[in-house]
Amino acid sequence: MDFEYSPKVKEMQAKLLAFFDQHIYPNEKRFAEEIDANRRAGNAWIPTRVIEELKPLAREAGLWNLFLPRSPRAPQGLSNLEYATLCEIMGRVPWSAEVFNCAAPDTGNMETLERYASEELKDQWLEPLLAGEIRSAFLMTEPAVASSDATNIECRIERDGDHYVINGTKWWSSGAGDPRCKVYIVMGKTDPEAGRHEQQSMIVVPADTPGITIKRFLPVFGYDDAPHGHMEIELKNVRVPASNILLGEGRGFEIAQGRLGPGRIHHCMRSIGVAERALELLCKRALSRVAFGKPVSAQGVTQERIAEARCEIEMARLLTLKAAYMMDTVGNKVAKAEIAMIKVVAPNVALKVIDWAIQVHGAAGVSSDFPLASWWAHQRTLRLADGPDEVHRNAIAKLELAKHMNVNPDTIKMPVARGF
Ligand SMILES: Cc1cc2nc3c(=O)[nH]c(=O)nc-3n(C[C@H](O)[C@H](O)[C@H](O)COP(=O)(O)OP(=O)(O)OC[C@H]3O[C@@H](n4cnc5c(N)ncnc54)[C@H](O)[C@@H]3O)c2cc1C
Repeated sequence: MDFEYSPKVKEMQAKLLAFFDQHIYPNEKRFAEEIDANRRAGNAWIPTRVIEELKPLAREAGLWNLFLPRSPRAPQGLSNLEYATLCEIMGRVPWSAEVFNCAAPDTGNMETLERYASEELKDQWLEPLLAGEIRSAFLMTEPAVASSDATNIECRIERDGDHYVINGTKWWSSGAGDPRCKVYIVMGKTDPEAGRHEQQSMIVVPADTPGITIKRFLPVFGYDDAPHGHMEIELKNVRVPASNILLGEGRGFEIAQGRLGPGRIHHCMRSIGVAERALELLCKRALSRVAFGKPVSAQGVTQERIAEARCEIEMARLLTLKAAYMMDTVGNKVAKAEIAMIKVVAPNVALKVIDWAIQVHGAAGVSSDFPLASWWAHQRTLRLADGPDEVHRNAIAKLELAKHMNVNPDTIKMPVARGF
């Protein structure tokens, strides 16, 4: 077992860290101020200038589309293992991933298009996404049904001549608040009478198709997440060409399983980056703040938490790297237990560390003077998005029990991937 990063990864890490020192950290304040100014002026749903200014610099530096392995359209793409450590660095500043065109949900959508779309659809939608000219959303979850069980999805996709007609209501469509969001991948039912896992299909829908209405944005603990946003969207008699269906009717689950790995694991990598940064803030604050005659860092309870945080971050990182390594070497299907495990572990570790960091900061920790409160809110959503913890634990337990039950683990049903 080799724990050393490859020379290529070390070089990329150094380049990315230098980019952070030069362009990302110095702009953290500006990013927040720009959105606040837009919000105060009455419209927060405007892309930030700061990200648009930084994108060409990232591209020039060769830090672009690193997430997409094995695509002739993005030759700079790295393997999951190589990307893991870079994605972790991006997690240190949550908005930074977009600067490198590595932000969700575009990454999952680009991967889906790369793997399952026709060449025509790729030319139309994947190319501008890879160029960072447009953004995208993934529409699976619905307000009316428990969407952690994707077989519940009710949205209808019905064939009508050379077209499909889509009717349904989706919510938590992340990124659909951004005016640059030009395309959706929609999951719905083409045949409610088919077998449980053959009813669903995925289809590419231009965001400006008549019949689409963005009803409202859904705040997360009060944060609007502008200009990205999480939207409720109504689709009423939305007509798209039949050739927009991905892979074919009834193959939505198959596609969902295909995008299972990367989307989930990227969030985990970024969670570790956030946890690392929270621990850094915790230590700095604990060293500089004096209470009852000594620095907060001298309190046993603080040291206990620092030690525990370091142990948990290291464990989570190693598990993430193992999952990434397995995805590269044996594929997402065989790596399903590791992917499910890290999806549970990483956000929970990050939440614990951020919570301890908030505690050390006192009341300042829950204010917007520090990023901890917003980091906590975001990480908390990851225990739901991409499938709730319980569903993943359920899958892990089934795989574990199968070892003692004379059951082929390949027949164990795993939860269907969520796009976000
Ligand atoms: C910030 C954010 C962004 C999101 N972005 C997107 C997006 O871009 N696109 C998209 O389609 N969706 C998105 N989602 C939605 C997300 O994927 C769903 O919320 C999630 O899959 C759960 O579905 P649900 O909310 O319908 O919960 P439900 O299915 O109603 O489940 C409710 C609860 O039931 C429990 N439960 C469910 N199944 C089990 C089980 N097997 N065992 C034990 N307990 C169980 C869990 O505690 C679960 O939280 C986003 C969500 C958030 C919060």
